[in-house]
This record gives sequence, C-alpha cells and structure tokens, in this order.
Amino acid sequence: MKRWSTILCSLMLTVFLLAEGCRFPDSGNSREYNKDIFAMDTFMTVRVYCDNRDTGEKALTAAEEEIRRLEQRFSVTDASSEVALINHSQKTTVTVSEDLAVVLTEAFRVARETDGALDITVYPVLKAWGFTTGSYRIPEQAELEMLLQRVDYRRLQWENGQLTLPEGVEIDFGALVKGYTGDRICGLFRERGITSAIVNLGGNVQTIGTRLDGTMWQVGIQDPLDEEALLATVSVADRAVVTSGNYERYFVGKDGNRYWHILDPYTGYPARGLLSVTVIGSSGLTCDACSTALFVMGKEKALTYCRNHPELEAVLVDEDGNVFVTEEIAESLSWNGDRNMKIIKRTENQ
Ligand code: ADP
Ligand code: MG
Repeated sequence: MKRWSTILCSLMLTVFLLAEGCRFPDSGNSREYNKDIFAMDTFMTVRVYCDNRDTGEKALTAAEEEIRRLEQRFSVTDASSEVALINHSQKTTVTVSEDLAVVLTEAFRVARETDGALDITVYPVLKAWGFTTGSYRIPEQAELEMLLQRVDYRRLQWENGQLTLPEGVEIDFGALVKGYTGDRICGLFRERGITSAIVNLGGNVQTIGTRLDGTMWQVGIQDPLDEEALLATVSVADRAVVTSGNYERYFVGKDGNRYWHILDPYTGYPARGLLSVTVIGSSGLTCDACSTALFVMGKEKALTYCRNHPELEAVLVDEDGNVFVTEEIAESLSWNGDRNMKIIKRTENQ
C-alpha cells in the first residue's frame, strides 16, 4: 500500500516540478544531478543543481551513503541496527550514538510539549497491528490494553547520552527518522557548497536555497481525499515540508474500516480526527516530529496547539475535507480547486 502511494507521490512531485518549469539541461553541460533511492521502506529522490559535475555526483553519492548509514542505525526490523540492539538491551544502560542522541532529545521535547501525543514507546502496539511487517490485523481490546501498559516515554531513563529501557519497553523512531535524514543530507550538501537542492524522502520534502533561476521551490501537498490529486502547492526556500497522512500506510479491515499507521498512544488505535498534517519549517526533524504529534492530537487539540505556537507553520485537513492553515504560510500556498480553507489565527492576534 505504502509503496504504491509513495511511488505515486514521487511521480506527482516529479511531474509537478517539470510542469513548474524546472528545465533539465542536456547531459553535455548538465547542471542537474538526480538519484532515486529505495530505502527506509520508501522511494526517495535526491536532486542537486551545481556547475561542477564532480561536485554534483559526489554530493549524490554522499547522500545515498548517509541514507544507508542512518537506515542501518534506526531500522527496527534489521536485528543488527542500533535501535534493535537497544530494544534488546532492556534494563541495561546503553550509551547511544550522536545520531540517536539528537533524535531522542527532539522526541522527548515534542513528547513533553504535546502531552505524549508523540511517543516513541508506542512500538509494541504498532507491531501488534502489523504495521512493521505488513501482516496486518486488528488486535483485541484486551491485547491493546495489555500492550498499552508498556507505552509511556516518561519511563525511559535518558541522561548524559545514556539510555535505559524498563522491561517490556521498546522504541521506534519511524515518526522522526526521515526528517533527521533530510537535515543530515542538506547539511552534507551545504558543506560541499551546494546552494540549490531538493530531496523527497517519501513525502518529506526538504529544500536548499531556491531553484536555479532564483524562484522558490514549488512543493506539492497531497490531497488526502484523492490520492491522485494535489491539495495545494507551497512556495518555499530553505525549508522542510513534511506531511503525516492516513493514506501513507494503511489497511482495510474485514469490517470495511481503514486502519492507519499513526497511533494514539492513549487508546492504541489509529489516531482520529485529521486526515493529514503538513508542517513547514527550517528543521526537518522538528517538522517530522510535529506533523506526527499534531496528527495524533486530532483536530481540536492540534488547532489549539497551532494557535499557541506561532513558530509552527502547518496545513491540516480534517475528516470532512476542511483545510486549516496557519496565518503566515497561507500566502505561500496555491490551491488546487476550490477549498473550504480557514486561517488559524495565533493566540496573541485574537
Ligand atoms: P510517515 O513515516 O508515513 O511519513 P510519520 O512521520 O507520521 O509518517 O510517522 C509514522 C510512523 O511513526 C509510524 O510508522 C510509526 O513508526 C511511528 N508512530 C506511529 N504513531 C506514533 C506515535 N503516536 N508516536 C510516535 N511514533 C509513532
Ligand atoms: Mg513524522
């Protein structure tokens, strides 16, 4: 399910960039360098623009190596990954890598800010639904209740780069890892002097600078009610555009209902109320953490959170297809068709 929707998403982005007039110079004096990568269970596209072929090609190789390195570190299904080893280290204190420390610190910060809507310890419940393996099932209520006893990020002991998991507690960074990976790739590109690039890591889009002609990047936001359509496009430069949606990974149960991969850590069920949340900002990691957290919060809590956090730019779509947009980003959006769009005004402006 995920793979096809992601392929479609990548294709749509490519088509969109083409339609938007990104010219692809012929290979003789090419200034555009592209790479498609399948990693972290998703299709990724990395694209850089620069004058020097060697710089362009080496940047792409560095990006791919970084993606593979981080996949190896964060994968929950690869038994030799750092996260898998931590999940097997219960009750033993482990010193974590710098990568993990950065992501863990952000996961704690956003978990605290969102009253545990983002909770990396939801992993045992995620497994029960089959979202990690693709063997989907609807767990019994009693099973969920038992598993939920193992879910609470506050029980993790995290101090001075050292982590201890209580018995039965397991972690998963699926909600944050693509954002962190995007930040790392952009960092590597900047170190190499790249001033124009766009990466699409399965729906997490991150940009460096502007397009070659100095105009802003036009990033498509998928319509959660129509997998083949864009809801809007957003004009950005040096920004991450990260979406959490109920269409990314889901299955349809025998009861005919759709069950998706973003879970409410309080109930153990897929979070309800919103169909998609896009967060736009300078840090891919923060955008990724917040897009998942806002999705879990549901419509009313997410709207309140946006009103109270002027630093956060977001586009929310509720179950009826209504769209809510924070004030400042509204003018950077072009809508595809007529939308029932409401502006989220910040608290101090009301
Ligand atoms: P995607 O990976 O599809 O782009 P997200 O960034 O929203 O979407 O991350 C979803 C992933 O986060 C799930 O696949 C799962 O690994 C994890 N997850 C699900 N629910 C939660 C939650 N409440 N808190 C933290 N992580 C979660
Ligand atoms: Mg996320």
